[in-house]
Amino acid sequence: MSRPKILYDLQQLDSQLDRHRARIAEIDRTLADDKAARVARKKVDAAQGNFDTVHKALLRTKSIVQEQRDKIKQTTNLLYGGTVKNPKELEDIQQEVGALKRYLDLLEERQLEAMLEFDEVQERRDQAKELLEQALADASKRNSALIEEKLQHQSASSGIESQRKAQASRVDATDIKIYETVRSKRAGVGVAKAQDRNCSACGSTLASALYQQARSPSNLTYCDTCGRIIYAE
Ligand SMILES: [Zn+2]
Repeated sequence: MSRPKILYDLQQLDSQLDRHRARIAEIDRTLADDKAARVARKKVDAAQGNFDTVHKALLRTKSIVQEQRDKIKQTTNLLYGGTVKNPKELEDIQQEVGALKRYLDLLEERQLEAMLEFDEVQERRDQAKELLEQALADASKRNSALIEEKLQHQSASSGIESQRKAQASRVDATDIKIYETVRSKRAGVGVAKAQDRNCSACGSTLASALYQQARSPSNLTYCDTCGRIIYAE
């Protein structure tokens, strides 16, 4: 078989492998980086942060309200406990209870506001969590399709790899070195077929003498524009 033809067949297999490998790499990148889920997770973190802050403030407010109620109870007990008998003192205590109750009203108002705010941040956090769940479900659906596709590319590749191995064993050691060198310098394509006397890789027209030379089975001929090995039928 002709030297350029053997290399051309090898090139066909390498090009197929390159396409499969490129797609596998692309799939791996997509699997490692799911943007929608990442954005949704950030929103959950922010909403959870707000929730924690507001929750703490609510607990603080509730305990202040409780303290105030206890204070009122204790002060009221003084009124009816019988230990204080002086009417002036009793009147002072009554006024103090009144003042404590007015302040309690204010505290309870603040507590109500804190509860409303709490409900709001809780709802927002729960919504963000739902959106994250959705994003994760979408990603896993997308990912399972991608993983399936990746497996297909891997299985196709291993089939081609064994063909490639068999084909490479037919190529002369020097030729394979030349081929690999040109291929690495020319975007993965070391051998170009001549089509209508044009180099199919770079499109330039091959001079008549060059074309004739390329048809010889015993020589390697190079496109004088792109430097690739030319295979002419
Ligand atoms: Zn060319």
